[in-house]
Amino acid sequence: MIPGLAEQLRIREQQGLRRVRQVIESPQASRIAIDGRDYLAFCSNDYLGLANHPRLIEAACEGAQRYGVGAGASHLINGHFSAHHDLEQALAEFSGFPQALLFSTGYMANIGAVTALVGREDAIFADKLNHASLNDAALLSRAQFIRYPHSDLAALEKRLAAADLRRKLVISDAVFSMEGDIAPIQQLVALCERYRALLLLDDAHGFGVLGQQGRGSLFMVNQINNHSPNIVYMATLGKAAGVFGAFVAAQDEIIETLIQSARSYIYTTATPPLLSHALLASLKLIKQDEWRRETLARNIVQLKEGLQSLPWKLLPSNTPIQPLLIGDSNEAVRISQHLREQGLLVPAIRPPTVPQGTARLRISLSAAHQPQDITRLSQALQELAAS
Ligand SMILES: *Cc1c(COP(=O)(O)O)cnc(C)c1O
Repeated sequence: MIPGLAEQLRIREQQGLRRVRQVIESPQASRIAIDGRDYLAFCSNDYLGLANHPRLIEAACEGAQRYGVGAGASHLINGHFSAHHDLEQALAEFSGFPQALLFSTGYMANIGAVTALVGREDAIFADKLNHASLNDAALLSRAQFIRYPHSDLAALEKRLAAADLRRKLVISDAVFSMEGDIAPIQQLVALCERYRALLLLDDAHGFGVLGQQGRGSLFMVNQINNHSPNIVYMATLGKAAGVFGAFVAAQDEIIETLIQSARSYIYTTATPPLLSHALLASLKLIKQDEWRRETLARNIVQLKEGLQSLPWKLLPSNTPIQPLLIGDSNEAVRISQHLREQGLLVPAIRPPTVPQGTARLRISLSAAHQPQDITRLSQALQELAAS
């Protein structure tokens, strides 16, 4: 017996918080197979429907032919391949920064960037609803960790004005992953410039989806290609981009600092170069297939209209993340389970991922969804509400 573990697991189960994994037997798509049954899925971050795109599969195979399967070393030893290099240049150009640096995952990018940029003498100011990876990064950095209420600029400004430290780093999701709302980006940038703080903007859910050509949330608020030098932009490549990985883009000085001292960049094997090769193909589709973002926008409108009369309300969001607020964890699980019996997958998100009493169904939409898919989900929810 290991002291306490069984008891902790039992409590979790009792509170309706035990998570189980489901085994997917098909590619990621709007329809997926589990246990031999087909489901219509509203749970992936594959917003543009690229995860299973023939052109990307072909590019991955071509990448494997050219580079093999494993990178075999870290970037600073001899695992930095021309595919990585080309992708970094393409991402820098696309996101509008002088340089970009690839990381294996978004989680590692956040850990690496935050711990390289601030330490004991510094302070971090973080939105209360930021992604877990950003909070973990803040704790690991040993900087003073000061949180402010969700998107509350007045509270943030007070805290920034009161702090007198070597460096200040404000951290925010650009699109909040469990709410779908967008941070007040322009005001955050202005505050950071006024108080000489860096702004780490995590655009995991905006990259590929928002802004002209899918260039991300910064291009949604600012058409031009000259971002504030205070911005450290981070985005993931396993969501809308449909592959895997993440990058940080910023001024040369910042990227050079990350190359020298981001431990989650240095002390790990480089991702397989075939993934970077596939991502170069993905980036082309992201840029050129405007229809994917148009379809996605239509799907969002249709879902909102379809769910208007429900007793449960959608949180205010114009992104593909459309959370339906239920409140009670067990109730959220019950509804999710009923939908599942009808062949519809919508995950119930519970504490501690979201605050107590705000359990929700997190509906995520994709350009791969058809109008009749959205209708089916709306009707199933109407029927559940009436029963
Ligand atoms: C998914 C996500 C991450 C982590 O990215 P991975 O590449 O999946 O590790 C970081 N931040 C936010 C806001 C996310 O939604």
